[in-house]
Amino acid sequence: MAAKITGSVLVTGSNRGIGLELVRQLCESTCPPSQIFAGCRDPNGPRVKALKELAQKHQHLVTIVELDTTNQASITEAAKVVGGQLKDRSLNLLINNAAVNIPGSLTETGEQQMMQVFQTNTVGPLLMIKEFLLFLRTAAAQSGAQREMSSQRSAVVNVSTLISSIEKCPETFLHAPMYPYRVSKAALNMLTRCLSEDLKKDGILVMALHPGWVQTDMGGPEAPLSTEDSVTGMLNVISSLTETHMGTLLDWEGNRIPW
Ligand code: NDP
Repeated sequence: MAAKITGSVLVTGSNRGIGLELVRQLCESTCPPSQIFAGCRDPNGPRVKALKELAQKHQHLVTIVELDTTNQASITEAAKVVGGQLKDRSLNLLINNAAVNIPGSLTETGEQQMMQVFQTNTVGPLLMIKEFLLFLRTAAAQSGAQREMSSQRSAVVNVSTLISSIEKCPETFLHAPMYPYRVSKAALNMLTRCLSEDLKKDGILVMALHPGWVQTDMGGPEAPLSTEDSVTGMLNVISSLTETHMGTLLDWEGNRIPW
């Protein structure tokens, strides 16, 4: 069962995989957030059935929001929709989860693959944070007096990966044909670090979280972790974040990963 996360939450890429499970566990928590916005780039597409069922079951909690994180117009429109529904126009938690992995060895990787993956995995989170910053700032200002209660402040969690770590990427993955993905997530890590410094003064905590190697379309069936276990761990980590975690990369068990 999910850890206690209060206030309002926005998850990108929530129609399948880890994003869907995040929304599910947040809904089914004994103490759910007050509002959950489930971003999804094609709400009428074929891969949204499970999210729609979840939203139907938890109508008072979940709002599906059309949101393509590679499209500025879509992000702007989503911010209007979410902003119009947010209580006190205040967003407590933004989880930048949406990502793509286009496999590519050195010979297979060209400009197009690099740009496409960067657009989703690095540029998308930057644009999201910029567009939702006002709401994150409002939440942080409101919770200023209760700063020790991490679940009530505002935070941005960028979903990253162990294999983006320059120091800790396991040898087997260093040789895997994943140039665009690993490089884009390493850039996301630096974005996280920069933002954490920049937004510290606003009381907004920014960190990166590795979900483990997880059984999703991206992780594949041979991955050792179920989405349930990964997300339970992720939500435990998120709910116990403190200022000491600003600008860090943690795994789903709360262990620090060197950049
Ligand atoms: P999946 O491939 O299973 O799901 C990816 C999700 O992102 C889908 O909902 C997809 O939507 C969405 N998405 C992709 N592009 C966009 C876009 N432009 N706009 C909005 N949504 C988009 O991945 P996982 O659930 O496995 O991964 C979730 C996160 O965890 C990612 O950040 C990933 O890098 C990270 N991660 C995953 C690991 C794993 O082992 N699974 C390991 C380490 C990190 P659609 O259905 O429309 O394509």
